[in-house]
Amino acid sequence: MIKSIIACIKDRVRKKDPFEEHFKTKEVYDRYKYLHPMCKTIIMDSIEFCRKHGFHLIITDTVSTVVEDIRLGRKSSTHREARAFDVRTMGMPEVLINQLVSHLETTYGHIGAISPKSKKPRLIIRHDSGHGDHLHVQLNRGYALPLLKGRA
Ligand SMILES: [Zn+2]
Repeated sequence: MIKSIIACIKDRVRKKDPFEEHFKTKEVYDRYKYLHPMCKTIIMDSIEFCRKHGFHLIITDTVSTVVEDIRLGRKSSTHREARAFDVRTMGMPEVLINQLVSHLETTYGHIGAISPKSKKPRLIIRHDSGHGDHLHVQLNRGYALPLLKGRA
């Protein structure tokens, strides 16, 4: 009880945006603003889709810098070009993961990043790059934005 009151006061002092609760860290949330608007739309859609199914969705990564990508050993440029984000699958019912993937593929699949192998759009890649299983949602190069400067 006391803990929840303290948490409530802290939130008020900080004027925390409830939307921020959907991001793994404050930095991931702060970087949200650099994403391509279409990525923002898909994030909103995903959050609302899961909310309707009683699940609180968490975005684990948004925009990165070149240096961060090198450190992470990332080959894909999609995060640093502001055309990708990651969704946590941990704790998410498998049925809901499949429903969300299906919904996003149906709605936005045609603007997914082009797979170098198949040369076809591939909006979602489910994988574990060493930081836990997640959905990597990526748009094609037409949605790339200038690289994020600073801290690079
Ligand atoms: Zn990713």
